[in-house]
Amino acid sequence: MTYQHCVADDRPAELPLGKVVCIGRNYADHAKELNNPIPAEPLLFIKPATSVVAMAEPFVLPRGLGEVHFETEMALLIGQQLRQASEADAAKAIAGVGLALDLTLRDMQSKLKSQGQPWEKAKAFDGACPLSVFLPPEQVGDLQQLQLRLTVNGELRQDGNTSMMLNKVLPLLSYISQFFTLEPGDVVLTGTPAGVGPVQTGDTLRVELDRFLRIETSAC
Ligand code: ZN
Repeated sequence: MTYQHCVADDRPAELPLGKVVCIGRNYADHAKELNNPIPAEPLLFIKPATSVVAMAEPFVLPRGLGEVHFETEMALLIGQQLRQASEADAAKAIAGVGLALDLTLRDMQSKLKSQGQPWEKAKAFDGACPLSVFLPPEQVGDLQQLQLRLTVNGELRQDGNTSMMLNKVLPLLSYISQFFTLEPGDVVLTGTPAGVGPVQTGDTLRVELDRFLRIETSAC
């Protein structure tokens, strides 16, 4: 099925699908669990539009490429162009708040990192970015006070709060826009809390953004 951004009630949003800009190691506890230092500056990478699928549909895991890890993240849908934007402009440009799985070929990423190569193949493959519906930001309230939860087959695996982000949403959007113009329909992933781990074919995942969103999906 062709992906289209959806706002609450599953109505299609009037925004085209663009790129997805992501930040690595934006929660100290997650950086620590992978034995990574906390970066002095935000560590950015991009997933292309071709990596996006609807989270509500079962997602297909790549085969024969090693472990695929889930990373549960708050996703922001951009509604207005941001180029070298201030935090005030960034605040006005958030059109929706949702959930993402930043699926990662972890074995491949570790190998690429050890060879000093870019992570692209490990993060930007087809299907690497399941996205939920988006809620209007006013419905969600304070973006830095949201609990992110993931259960796999009923077992709680990730349970973190957006208050623990090292780079908060508005400075992050402003920072990103110094390098990459964010266009209407682009999405920003804000990093994952601790608890990441492998996902296997047949797993059922329940992904929650506080009391606002609860998506059930599965890996196939
Ligand atoms: Zn991530």
